[in-house]
This record gives sequence, C-alpha cells and structure tokens, in this order.
Amino acid sequence: MYSGGCRLSSERVNGGDRLLPIEVGTVVAGGGTTGAVVAATLAAAGESVLLLEAGPDYGPFDAARWPRELLDPSDTTTSHDWNIGVRRPSGGLLAFERGRVIGGSSAVNGCVVSWGCRADYDNWVRAGLHAWSAERLEPLLRTATATLRSRRYGLAELTPFQRLWHASAPSVGIPAVADLNDLDGASGIAPSEFNVAEGVRWNASFAFLDPVRQRNNLTIVGGCVVDRVLLDGTRVHGIRAVTNAGIEDVAAGRAILTAGTYGSPAILMRSGIGDPASVARAGVTPVVELPGVGRNLQDHLAVMLRYTGTPRLVRETVQFARHHRSPHEQVIAKARSSVSRGPFDLHLYPVGGASANWREPWKWKVGIALLQPTARGHVSIATPDPRSAPTVDARHILDPSADDLKALADGIEIARSITAATQVGQTLGQELSRWRAGSSRSHVRGWIRENLVHYHHPVGTCRMGGPGDADAVVDAAGAVRGVSGLFVADCSVMPRVPRANTNVPAAALALGIAQRLTRAST
Ligand SMILES: Cc1cc2nc3c(=O)[nH]c(=O)nc-3n(C[C@H](O)[C@H](O)[C@H](O)COP(=O)(O)OP(=O)(O)OC[C@H]3O[C@@H](n4cnc5c(N)ncnc54)[C@H](O)[C@@H]3O)c2cc1C
Repeated sequence: MYSGGCRLSSERVNGGDRLLPIEVGTVVAGGGTTGAVVAATLAAAGESVLLLEAGPDYGPFDAARWPRELLDPSDTTTSHDWNIGVRRPSGGLLAFERGRVIGGSSAVNGCVVSWGCRADYDNWVRAGLHAWSAERLEPLLRTATATLRSRRYGLAELTPFQRLWHASAPSVGIPAVADLNDLDGASGIAPSEFNVAEGVRWNASFAFLDPVRQRNNLTIVGGCVVDRVLLDGTRVHGIRAVTNAGIEDVAAGRAILTAGTYGSPAILMRSGIGDPASVARAGVTPVVELPGVGRNLQDHLAVMLRYTGTPRLVRETVQFARHHRSPHEQVIAKARSSVSRGPFDLHLYPVGGASANWREPWKWKVGIALLQPTARGHVSIATPDPRSAPTVDARHILDPSADDLKALADGIEIARSITAATQVGQTLGQELSRWRAGSSRSHVRGWIRENLVHYHHPVGTCRMGGPGDADAVVDAAGAVRGVSGLFVADCSVMPRVPRANTNVPAAALALGIAQRLTRAST
C-alpha cells in the first residue's frame, strides 16, 4: 500500500534544498488523465511546463518501475487512493476512490473507453458553450481514444458470463450493435472498447507523457501537493506546493488546475477563490468571489445486483482463465428508463470474470448506472492545510430525486427481465439482493437508497458556462472568471455529466483547452 504524498514538513525551503524550479512558464497542478494531456500538449508546442503530482511518479512505462496492480487491467485498485469518503446514515462507508499517482484515476480505473451521445455535448452548446458541440468534440474524442491505444474485445475474448449477457439482452429488446461509441446510437449492447495494450492498463501517463518525457522544457515532479495559486491582486504569479523538502513557491505566469473534481475546487478555495463565506469558514481570506466553486457535484448513480453463481459458471470461467486475461467488465448495455429524456439513460454492465485478483467465492454482479442523475452534492475544504483531503457532501448519492430512484428501479427491472427470460438466470444462480419481484414501491426505493454507490465519474465542481452564467466558475476556454492566468481543464469543468464513462471525454476536453492555449500563445 502506498501511504501518502509527502513528508509532513511545514518549513519553507530555500536555495539548494529546493526540489522545484524557481520559475517556469506554466505550472500544471495534478498529473492525472487531464494533467498528462495538458502538460504533454503544451510541452510538445515548446512551452516551459512544470507538472506537479501529489502521488508518486513511477516514470515511463519502459523504466519498468510501476507496481504490478497499476498495470493489471483486470480489476480496479485502491493501492494509490486519496481515501475520500463519507459515512452513510446506516453507518457504512461510501468511498469516493480517486487515483493518487502520475496518471491519476486513469492509472487505477476500469479502462472502459466511452464517448456518450451527441445530445450530451450539444446540450453544453445550449448552455452557451459553443466551442463544445459534439461535432467539434468528436475529433478530440477520436484522438484521445487512439492515443490511449483503445481496442474492442472480440466475442471470443468475452468471459462466459459476459458472453451470455451479450447474447441475452436482445431477447428483452436491447439489440446487439456494432459500436457503443456511435454518438447517434440509441439503446443497444456490445463489447466495450478498452485502453488496454499489451495486457497493460494503458494509462494517460504512458499515452501522453511518455512521448515527451525526454524534453528539456518539461519537468514532472511526483510526491508534491499543490497548496494554492499565488495571486498578485487578481493575476496569477505562481503556485505554492508542499514537497518532500518543505513548502516551495514557484513563479509562473500561468497555472492550469487538473487536480480533478475533488482536487481542483479545493486548490481554488485554498487560494481564496470561491464562495466568500465558505472560504472564510475554512480559515482562508476570500480574494475572488465565485460562488459556484465546489457546487454542482454530480456522478452517475449505481446499484449492484449480486448473484451466487453456479458450479458450472465457475468451472467454465476457470477454464476460460487458463487461456485469457480480461477485464472484469467487458460488455455494456445502453438502455432507457421510463423517465429518460434521450436515446438512453442507463448502463447495465455485468461484472465478474477471469482475473488473477479474483478468489472464490466468485463475485458475480450486474451493475445498473443512471447516466443522467438530477441530484447534486458539493465539495468544500475544512482547513487551509493542503495535506487534508477535500470534504465531499454526498447529497448527489445519498439524497437521490424521485426520478433518479424511478430510473434505477426501471433499470433493475430490465436487468431482471434479462436474467429471467434467458439462460443467464440459470447460470448466474440466486440473486442475493434483499428485495424480490413484487415488493412494494417504497420497499424497492428504500433498498435502492441504502445500496446506492457511484460509477466513479464525478464532474461539475468548477463548471464551465457561457457569458451570462453567473454561477459558472470557468469560461468555455477553461479560464477562471475574474482571475487572469488561471485555468481549470479537468472533469470538474463539465457542466453536466455525459452519458459516458468519463476518462476519454475528460481527455478530449483537456486536449481542446490545451490546444487553444498553445494557439493563443503563438
Ligand atoms: C476506480 C475507478 C474506475 C474508473 N473506471 C473508469 C472507466 O473504466 N472508464 C472511464 O472512462 N472512466 C473511469 N473512471 C473515471 C476516470 O478515470 C476519470 O474520469 C478521469 O481519470 C478523470 O481525470 P481527471 O484528470 O479529471 O482526474 P484524475 O485522473 O483523478 O487526476 C487528478 C490528479 O490530480 C492529483 N491531485 C489532486 N489534488 C492535488 C494536489 N493538491 N496537488 C497535486 N496533485 C493533486 C491526483 O493525485 C490525480 O493524479 C474511473 C475512476 C475510478 C476512480
């Protein structure tokens, strides 16, 4: 287990003890999916870039220093995690996993490559963000997908459970389709695309940073927590960070925050940028009033149906695993609930299969994720100390709306109709969920509430908005309102979560913002 970012030193570092340069052109704060994209794009354009990451930097893939679990794509891992979470009213822990390592969450994630649908991005245009139409985003999605070395698994590579699920969905009206990432596609089932190359989780660090790591104009420092942006009035003049040597200031004309949906609003608030009352409550002097910072937190809501499995399924899976290594998720069905306002609003995804990390008893599950939730939470800071993780107010999970509950209940019915109508049910064995078909509506909704988890796709806490949008934190170019030289370019700027797993949409967005910045500086 990795045990944290840096030594708990609070001394200011001078001269020769410094780990960071005195001055750079651009500081990129956070070396995850989007930080890798932004730093690589600016560095390739010849700009002087310092990329700071709280977790370790294990170097390029070829250096072979990466821990095995970060390379193994068959299951997600929490070995490099921020340990953010909240207690449920019932007492259990609701964890908000996030990668803390170069490559960020792309270094720990499920590797599903997903684009969503045209309406997701065209709705951003309707909110005044004309640069982000699906038409303009599509080439960026394509570039991000190719750079991450994505590929689709063939039917012969699907585990027995995944193959059965794929074969069975058409019997309840979800057709087999060729491509889940067709932006105009509606309901359908297919094997997903995965950024797995040579049997390795091909994270954003390998994909984007490795080709530019040797450049003299790019410096990457791991084990370095960004505290705040240094401001001269309302203009950025640098960044303060905590390294293994202590507190270090770096002068920079531009700072780009890519610390993720929980990390970026926290850096803004520690810099005095946000809702003045909540910034002051955390012990920070307010500097720039931007009430939207930390608000609008949303994530896909999900529940898991669990099954006992059967001896036959275990036998077939063990046999399959002798010849194949495959991710624990391989197939996704896009489906519509009765409250859907578009082509689909649910992902149904079987989880379970052949993996070195999996021990018996096998955990056979079907996930049901709501892709257009209406509930919202928020992120705040409790103290100015950058070593304290941000606080997540999880209303977006713990307080779902009636429509959110209805959509998920519909999704459960669809999943159950697949297992009831076909061979999958016999092969999966008993469902272990507490409620059964025929239960009252309030019982069903109570069960969903108690068992809600998230699909690991938080967005929205530094929302982009058009010119008249008072609550927006950044404009369409990622520039922070009211501060010059400061940008946000990660998942936090998405105004609404797309109907997609968010890694590739985030990379595409970061690519778009970085390309504009390089064009602006030439
Ligand atoms: C378990 C899991 C499974 C997932 N599965 C999938 C999937 O299969 N497909 C998919 O599309 N998406 C998936 N996702 C989501 C996807 O990985 C994220 O949407 C994407 O990585 C977000 O990119 P980001 O750059 O916004 O944030 P991140 O990649 O999380 O990067 C933020 C980085 O900033 C660093 N940081 C934060 N604060 C500071 C600070 N103060 N100073 C310095 N560094 C800081 C963090 O350590 C991290 O490296 C998954 C996520 C998780 C956690």
